[in-house]
Amino acid sequence: MKKYTPTIGLEVHAELRTKTKMFCDSPNDPDETRPNQNVCPVCLAHPGTLPVINREAVHHVLRVGTALGSTLADFTEFDRKSYFYPDIPKGYQITQYEYPLVTGGSLNGVSITRVHLEEDTARSIHSGGVSLVDFNRAGVPLMELVTEPVMHDAETAGNFARELQLLLRTLGASEANLEKGEMRIEANISISENDTFGTKVEVKNLNSFRSVERALAYEIERQAELLEKGEKVLQETRGWDESKQSTFRQRTKEGSADYRYFPEPDLPKLVISDVPEFSAAVLRASMPELPWERRERYSALGLSKDAITSIGSDTDRAVFFDAVLSTLDGNKKISALAANYFASDVAGWLAKDSTRTLSISPNAFVSLMHMVNENKVSSRGAKEVLTIMLENGGDPETIAKESGFEQVSDTEALRTAVQAVIVRSPEVADEYRKGKEAALQYLVGQSMKETKGAGNPTVIQELLVEELGKA
Ligand code: ADP
Ligand code: MG
Repeated sequence: MKKYTPTIGLEVHAELRTKTKMFCDSPNDPDETRPNQNVCPVCLAHPGTLPVINREAVHHVLRVGTALGSTLADFTEFDRKSYFYPDIPKGYQITQYEYPLVTGGSLNGVSITRVHLEEDTARSIHSGGVSLVDFNRAGVPLMELVTEPVMHDAETAGNFARELQLLLRTLGASEANLEKGEMRIEANISISENDTFGTKVEVKNLNSFRSVERALAYEIERQAELLEKGEKVLQETRGWDESKQSTFRQRTKEGSADYRYFPEPDLPKLVISDVPEFSAAVLRASMPELPWERRERYSALGLSKDAITSIGSDTDRAVFFDAVLSTLDGNKKISALAANYFASDVAGWLAKDSTRTLSISPNAFVSLMHMVNENKVSSRGAKEVLTIMLENGGDPETIAKESGFEQVSDTEALRTAVQAVIVRSPEVADEYRKGKEAALQYLVGQSMKETKGAGNPTVIQELLVEELGKA
């Protein structure tokens, strides 16, 4: 097969977190389960009603643009995108066409084309031969981010989308849950054997980052096979079938002229510099620590790469871990220890069941780390105590005491155990005395067993050397 270069560009929609909808004061509540509760004449498209721009939504998009290092528009306007569908009762969607709020910038090294603001559509529900429309979502503020066609493999595209979700959550702009449709990803993909772009296919129905990656990998192969057979790739929209792990044709692409875009006459033009809270300086000052800045800080603290990825990829985890770090007051040794326990044990425990949440207190976690550092609990014991804490909460000292995971460093108690082991294994003891170092490790192991894992191995080894030297 010839060598083809894939080219990928993403279009991502995110429902913004605002009190009210984009152009009216109906509540924007993604958790409302009863249909048609959050509606009013404006978002139901009654004739004669007028839209009003939601300042909070504009603010969110400008903050996203600030974080991405983009150019923020000074002049911006909204446009009508005309089409017919039951979920868009006005017969057009209000969006931005010529003058998006945000242009340029980059994320994870991927260039951003633009970020603009629009309104979400209603939700159509097709069941039992009837179609129903729920207008709770109609008019919810929706941000659309478009990347340049600059990615060349599926994993890069998946990671871009993950980083964008993390950024939106960090900024408080969107919950950005893919399963809830709060973040929707469309992946454009073409392949080519020279530096002219091939025909692109747009893939929809991508409900997880995994499906973004798998759908792109699938398309790269499908398109290559077509070209190998001397056939053409059709410019079309395809859906991702999760159960079949393949894409299928949905429709051939309509041209943008069909939408008859024109400036929305019912809304004022916006001049961003007229609004003091939208000034670049005010927006910059409102930035929280951004995901990549947080990772830098962890890296400067000496945390391992795996730990940085595990902790820095989720806002809840990072908030928890930052509370841990603040009690550790710059102690690099215990910080690194805590990061490793978090990345392996806590993250491992969370990964086992998606309904699990982190309810352990940062202080209790820190206490356990101090116990590990001071050898009050063995590393095996610490893992057991941590699991109990993750499941039921509680104080690590009490748990270690009650469950017998306390590490015994008490010399006299351990000496008795060590002596018993030497008495039971006279041949091994002699081998050690004749210079066989490996024999000592065996005796350490036996003594650990004798103390049911509670003995401090360092102290045990010291005592063994001492006791074996006596005879
Ligand atoms: P359209 O007019 O069909 O919507 P756009 O130029 O607006 O196309 O691009 C939409 C998305 O498709 C963008 O994310 C862009 O990066 C991506 N894209 C454009 N051309 C290609 C291509 N040849 N291969 C892959 N992606 C592409
Ligand atoms: Mg487009």
